[in-house]
Amino acid sequence: CGIVGYIGSNEKKSILLSGLKELEYRGYDSAGISVLKEGELSVFKAVGKLSHLENKCKDFESCGFGVAIGHTRWATHGKPTEINAHPHMAEFSNVVHNGIIENYQELKKELGERGCRFVSQTDTEVIVHLFEECLKELFDPFEAFKATLKRLKGAYAILLITKKSPDRIYYAKNGSPLIIGKGSDGVYFASSDAPLIGYAHSVCYLQDGDLGYMDEKSFDQLPLIRPLSVNKLYAQKEGY
Ligand code: GLU
Repeated sequence: CGIVGYIGSNEKKSILLSGLKELEYRGYDSAGISVLKEGELSVFKAVGKLSHLENKCKDFESCGFGVAIGHTRWATHGKPTEINAHPHMAEFSNVVHNGIIENYQELKKELGERGCRFVSQTDTEVIVHLFEECLKELFDPFEAFKATLKRLKGAYAILLITKKSPDRIYYAKNGSPLIIGKGSDGVYFASSDAPLIGYAHSVCYLQDGDLGYMDEKSFDQLPLIRPLSVNKLYAQKEGY
């Protein structure tokens, strides 16, 4: 299971797919990507190999500024089906998640009573509905994201994108790995170093409890930046 993300103008589909390939070693049963650009959210999912996902989105064009997230799933709640594959969608937002939301049943019941319609059997889907419900009350997407995280129990690495702030990726880490990288052509997210090699020149290893959002500018304000050269990244990957 793994997560990737990208903010920038390059071909988002190929960046995500090559990132997910680098995370294949972590194991997965299904995969998916979501691209938000020019106000449109495009989601592709497939069960099985990444080549199945590649086939599904082979005619999709994703150049031009936008934000994008991708996921390889190792099912914990709900069978490995296309519907259960991430990204999960509510009305105008998408989320990918590694880990387990332990209190998802309680949240799902509460959200169901408020009129949210669930399509998957995953624990993950509550995150995106909860976010949109919080947004109805708080109006500000970052405030809504923080309020959402306060309600979640369990382990997670989360990336969320929303049409309400189409130049940002919201992120949170608690118990599952998540790294942010900056390259000359945008900002990257990944569960491990491997997808960042050749793309990022500086990286920030998030700690448990870290959360925030990135747009093209905000990487430079991260408090935890540890600049690494590409060679150093290689060295880490190879275990030197
Ligand atoms: N618990 C989530 C699910 O079953 C995420 C699994 C993962 O980390 O890939 O969909």
